[in-house]
Amino acid sequence: MSRAVSVPAQGTGVEDALARTIGAEHVSTGNTARRFAAADFSDRMLAVPAAVVRPGSTEYVAVVLRICRDHGLSATVRGGGMSYTLAHLPSTPDSVVIDVARLDRIVEVNRPTAMWSSNPESRGRS
Ligand SMILES: Cc1cc2nc3c(=O)[nH]c(=O)nc-3n(C[C@H](O)[C@H](O)[C@H](O)COP(=O)(O)OP(=O)(O)OC[C@H]3O[C@@H](n4cnc5c(N)ncnc54)[C@H](O)[C@@H]3O)c2cc1C
Repeated sequence: MSRAVSVPAQGTGVEDALARTIGAEHVSTGNTARRFAAADFSDRMLAVPAAVVRPGSTEYVAVVLRICRDHGLSATVRGGGMSYTLAHLPSTPDSVVIDVARLDRIVEVNRPTAMWSSNPESRGRS
């Protein structure tokens, strides 16, 4: 990384709430995971988030956002982390990165219209 970023202390309380809700195995609070989620291909880092969570459904994404709101944290969404424009990077340590890697389900492919939709709720034309 090109810039030094301080890693906030663990154990802010939000981790417990997230783990209780979506399962501890889907909540990462270790330095390696948090620093990985704090960077993209720009090789820059703005802030290290308090936690990285991997919800398994759009309903759980909503729950995670509610927990973030209740704890006064911001949230950013990380897909594959391939952006090089700082797009998904948290700008404050008072934040949670929502890693959507588990939301990989194709819901529908409509061949006549060449439209597809997937979980999460993204749509496109194939
Ligand atoms: C070497 C290289 C070559 C590239 N070449 C091209 C190219 O030829 N053409 C091109 O168009 N792009 C190119 N890109 C850019 C890159 O492919 C795009 O930024 C990519 O689409 C980002 O997808 P991601 O899932 O990695 O998203 P991320 O990098 O994780 O996030 C990108 C943005 O999308 C948001 N986001 C991610 N997932 C979701 C979601 N599920 N719901 C809502 N918002 C979400 C994030 O919050 C963020 O704002 C290139 C990147 C690299 C590193």
